Amino acid sequence: MAIATDLYALQEIDSAIDVARATLAVVEEQLGETEELTAARTAVEEHREALRALREGGRDVEWQVDEARSHLAAVESKLYGGTVRNPKELAGLNDDANMLKGQFRRREDELLNHMVKVEEQETALRQAEAVLKEVEGRWRGEQADLLGQKDRLESELAELETTRRVQAGQIDGRVMGLYDVLRDRRQGKAVVKVERGMCQGCRISLPMSVLQKARSGFDVVQCVSCERILYVS
Ligand SMILES: [Zn+2]
Repeated sequence: MAIATDLYALQEIDSAIDVARATLAVVEEQLGETEELTAARTAVEEHREALRALREGGRDVEWQVDEARSHLAAVESKLYGGTVRNPKELAGLNDDANMLKGQFRRREDELLNHMVKVEEQETALRQAEAVLKEVEGRWRGEQADLLGQKDRLESELAELETTRRVQAGQIDGRVMGLYDVLRDRRQGKAVVKVERGMCQGCRISLPMSVLQKARSGFDVVQCVSCERILYVS
């Protein structure tokens, strides 16, 4: 077979390998945790921690309510127990009871406010958990897709590399050397088609003698301007 035809076929395989490798790199970069997933997980952890702190603080508020209640009960039992008869002392106890009632109500209000905050935090946590569940589900699906793509690309690459070995085996070592150098120097395009007498690499019109040699296809003919190997299909 003509050298240029073999080289052109090799270049098509090499281009396919380049595309597959680049695609594989993109796929591999997307594997692993995404920022969205990490953020959703962090949000759940933060809400959990906030709820834990609130519940812990709630125990203090409950304890203060209990303390205010028992303090008030103690003063009221003295006030209404009948053991204290001195009007001045009774009036004093009455003032204390009123003061403690106020304190007790304030503590109870605090506890109610606190319970509302806990409920709000519980709702926020549930919402964050729902978001995480949704993000995680989507992420799992995407990762499964990506792993599938990775598998396909890897077997495609293995096949391409085998085909390349066979194709390159048919080509003379010296010509392969030139092909490699040109491919490196000309962004992967070492071999170019000739169309309407023009090199499709640099678009110059080729001299007739060059065209004729290129048409025969049995020798490596390079463009007089860009040095690419010419292929007449
Ligand atoms: Zn050229």
